[in-house]
Amino acid sequence: MNGLPARRLLLVHAHPDDESINNGVTMAKYAAEGAHVALVTCTLGEEGEVIPPGLAHLAADRDDTLGAHRVGELAAAMAELGVHDHRFLGGPGRFRDSGMMGAPQNHRPEAFWSADVDEAAAYLVEVIRELRPQVLVTYDPDGGYGHPDHIQAHRVAMRAAELAAETAFRRDLGVPHAVGKIYWNRVPHSVVEEGFARLRAAGAELPFPAVGSPGDVPGVVADERITTEIEAKDTFAAAKAAAMRAHATQIAVDGSFFALSNDLAQPLFTREYYELVEGRPGVPAGEREHDLFAGVEA
Ligand SMILES: [Zn+2]
Repeated sequence: MNGLPARRLLLVHAHPDDESINNGVTMAKYAAEGAHVALVTCTLGEEGEVIPPGLAHLAADRDDTLGAHRVGELAAAMAELGVHDHRFLGGPGRFRDSGMMGAPQNHRPEAFWSADVDEAAAYLVEVIRELRPQVLVTYDPDGGYGHPDHIQAHRVAMRAAELAAETAFRRDLGVPHAVGKIYWNRVPHSVVEEGFARLRAAGAELPFPAVGSPGDVPGVVADERITTEIEAKDTFAAAKAAAMRAHATQIAVDGSFFALSNDLAQPLFTREYYELVEGRPGVPAGEREHDLFAGVEA
């Protein structure tokens, strides 16, 4: 119908780098398998802190050119993952990074947090109706960890999925389409515990000044809530690490660990986990899916 591959996956994220941290393995795997993998990023991440001292001038409180720089980082990351369809919600710069919760930047008129959800969702409805994905991946209602742009990305993605399927909604945005399965990014509690145990064991060999805590990991839930697990072949794990490295202003990667601008070491997960929140699981109750498309291909 749209000339695209049979399997189509759409991911919605808040800032450049979130996709590589959360879904790098998944994106690389499905791209390599010939599925259409599309990423919609809602802001340019203009308010991020900058790790390399040589690039510190890009920051919002200095030159305020970090957004344009991160467009380039995202393109490099997508090249590492083999993903060719990456877009910004409403076009690059339509919505600005809102900063951390409670920051004055939350209330700027162009901040994503200030956006009307239905208005922002309409941009995504057009993408959904064009690509007609069977699978949509986004965050949980808390955005994984409470960042305003992540919460808003969740709201916009969920609302867009609803509106895209509504036959009476904005026919100028394309033929209505119902997404078959919606997933939220998750990390099982046991995996986080094990990852941090591995980190603490590495101790003095770590190139980071301090070790983070399980509370730094977004989307952590009890193991029972995980419905789906995507395992990495080594090549996809390597692609994920390379994609994360491409976001050099935001992420420092070392082996199987990484740190954000807070310099706190975290485990780099090469298996990715999801909670199916809409649509039917493709496996019997009590089993975990190993394919986001399980059950949707007739
Ligand atoms: Zn983010």
